[in-house]
Amino acid sequence: MQDHPKLPVDTARTPHARWRTLALDAVTLSGGFWAERQTVNAERSLMHGHRMLEDAGNLHNLRLAAGQAQGEYKGPVFMDSDVYKWLEAVGYQHALGLSPEVRARADEAIELVRAAQADDGYLDSYYQVVAPDRRWTEIPHGHELYCAGHLIQAAVAFQRCAGDGRLLEVVRRLVDHIRTVFGPDKRPGTPGHPEVEMALVELSRLTGDARYLDLARFFVDQRGYGLLGPSPIGGRAYYQDRVPVRETTELEGHAVRALYLASGVADVYLETGDQSLLDSLGRQWQDLVQHKISVTGGAGARHDGEAFGRPYELPNEAVYNETCAAIASIMWNWRMLLATGEARFADLIEETLYNGFLSGVSLDGERFYYINPLLSRGENSGAGRRSRDRQPWYRVACCPPNVMRTLASLGHYFATASRAGLQIHQYGAGSIRAELSAGRSVGVVVDTEYPWDGHIVLTVTETDGSPWELRLRRPGWCQAPSLRVAGEQVDVHGRGADYLSVGRVWRVGDRVELTLPMPPRLVEANPRLESTRGCAAIERGPMVYCLEQCDAPTAAVLGVQIDTAAPLESSWKPDLLGGVHVIHARGLTVPSESWSDGSLYRPLESVEPVAPEPVSLTAVPYYAWANREPGPMRVWIPRA
Ligand SMILES: [Zn+2]
Repeated sequence: MQDHPKLPVDTARTPHARWRTLALDAVTLSGGFWAERQTVNAERSLMHGHRMLEDAGNLHNLRLAAGQAQGEYKGPVFMDSDVYKWLEAVGYQHALGLSPEVRARADEAIELVRAAQADDGYLDSYYQVVAPDRRWTEIPHGHELYCAGHLIQAAVAFQRCAGDGRLLEVVRRLVDHIRTVFGPDKRPGTPGHPEVEMALVELSRLTGDARYLDLARFFVDQRGYGLLGPSPIGGRAYYQDRVPVRETTELEGHAVRALYLASGVADVYLETGDQSLLDSLGRQWQDLVQHKISVTGGAGARHDGEAFGRPYELPNEAVYNETCAAIASIMWNWRMLLATGEARFADLIEETLYNGFLSGVSLDGERFYYINPLLSRGENSGAGRRSRDRQPWYRVACCPPNVMRTLASLGHYFATASRAGLQIHQYGAGSIRAELSAGRSVGVVVDTEYPWDGHIVLTVTETDGSPWELRLRRPGWCQAPSLRVAGEQVDVHGRGADYLSVGRVWRVGDRVELTLPMPPRLVEANPRLESTRGCAAIERGPMVYCLEQCDAPTAAVLGVQIDTAAPLESSWKPDLLGGVHVIHARGLTVPSESWSDGSLYRPLESVEPVAPEPVSLTAVPYYAWANREPGPMRVWIPRA
């Protein structure tokens, strides 16, 4: 069996990728912030996930399809996809070290998937068990192609990272079957829930079989012509079928669908160089960052239809920001970075990873958020229909296994290589090795306390006698980076606006020290964003902060203002929330005593104003909220 690189997206032979992606055993994260999250994912989340797949009935459904169990199908139509995402996570985990228990569970699950596949290659437990006569007839909402996409990604992960081709065999038969249904000389059609597009492109990268890429392109090209019909939830825009992909100017409809589609379209561009696709994605990206993204990187503001709202429709309490949408945004931005080499995409990946993505999983790795609001009253009403508390699982459980696969493959997103050298996109303690060209291997170790401290030391561990270039992303949030190379201060001007590049003949032991000062700072939003007008949010480095009630014994956090003239101070709390920098600010309480009659409105200035009381505010990183006692939380704080 050919030895494949262990990674989710392989651009080694991708004609329109600027950079080559690196494998999970070439970029290792160790002893730092993300290594800890990966350890929890491996030691807690994966086994927990398997228990939940058993309890919720996902595995039971596949057993029904395989004729190995009796009973009723359980849960929504897309239950299989959660098994596949979990398997994809386990696939990646092979590259990092997998426990025998999880390995055994995955082995059983793979055998079950094999047994469930129909003789003609079809595989979808819902339609096999519940509605065999409705196969491929409910394309808008049936999720058959969505489930197929997740199975393909799991199969690719297992082939590449575990050298296990059993799922790949299943997938080849399944896609052969799909090709008898859809295609230029078969039925028109495009998935109601995009996902299969990027999976098919990756399958073609793995196998070298261009028919998979052709099918992905077919699905992309078929979209926007009304084949799906109007959705009762949000018309044709709901599943991005209102406008052809190349004419799309904005992100609309169901956010996870839109962002998975954008990822697949980016993959088709990377393989074909079809500029009209990249132009369309560029317009959608501008729409996202100028109008439709929370300060945490959260995307998809509306509960109704889990959809993007209008420009500036970004409420605090009622915002949706599904964890899967944050993950889909990371996947899309990664492909945009590979296509363009522009750091703005890596910046957005960073913002999303540390905030809107990581808030989706508890510190113990066994409880999850589906929705990630920016304000919570700490009550079950209002903050979201899926409850204020992190849940061990959900009836629609797309997010938890999505978090698992992202964490297990995280190193992939940190660095790339080219013939010219290494590009470092994200900072974390660990090591990076890459082959620049045949026989030219280079490597660095990265020592840093990032994201808590902006001092990053890279030491060359492997090089040859020819020059190569180290490119270091200059984060958009950092005003004044500084750089020392082999002990000498280097002027950062003229070394690139978004990546600082240093090219030279390196020697083993050479050190590059990048310092990204990260004083706490206040940010404000465009005043067109009505929900945050007159407010400020606290940030430090890549982290967004929030106020939680349990840090404010003397004041209600929903009734405080922040004194923006007072300095912000940060301090390291090793015993709090697994170790975090907290930020202290000065605030004022908003007096409510004169409202003790219970009235909701009154004439302005009908009573003497009561002087506000000073109060000290302590902010914690947003990702870590709701890991202590439940209570109110806010990101945006009214300015005094
Ligand atoms: Zn989800």
